[in-house]
Amino acid sequence: MNDCIFCKIAKGEIPCYKVYEDDKVLAFLDIAQDAFGHTVVIPKKHFANIFECDEETLSTCISAVKKISNHYVNHCGFEGVNISNNNGKAAGQTVHHIHFHIIPRKSGDGINIYNELAGDNTPLDKQLELLKLN
Ligand code: 5GP
Ligand code: ZN
Repeated sequence: MNDCIFCKIAKGEIPCYKVYEDDKVLAFLDIAQDAFGHTVVIPKKHFANIFECDEETLSTCISAVKKISNHYVNHCGFEGVNISNNNGKAAGQTVHHIHFHIIPRKSGDGINIYNELAGDNTPLDKQLELLKLN
């Protein structure tokens, strides 16, 4: 995609702080600097989101996410990771090239990844009426 910022990063047209690369995937530090080590993992091929992305590419991305997460915990002094992925504007996606966020975590680091959730008291059986798949 010509106007996609992550495609430009994948092609080396825009610089990034590269954490990991192989022939299919690239991982780099998020420009937001909102948490130490905040990392973005992308497929080099453009897909907008999880709805468009093929399963093989998703699987390749998640394997890279796991490899990087293992590295952060086994070699970089972290104790855990949060992994997130936004799909669609309504879900807060701002760059429409599928990507996975990795936030490396340590006990007592003060990060509350869910502090923006407002809560929902709808009984779980009512929620299931809408959501059940099989
Ligand atoms: P989203 O909100 O779509 O899940 O996440 C997009 C992420 O991309 C944001 O966290 C944002 O800071 C990051 N981002 C946007 N533009 C750039 C850029 O040019 N370079 C890097 N490294 N990250 C970017
Ligand atoms: Zn793209």
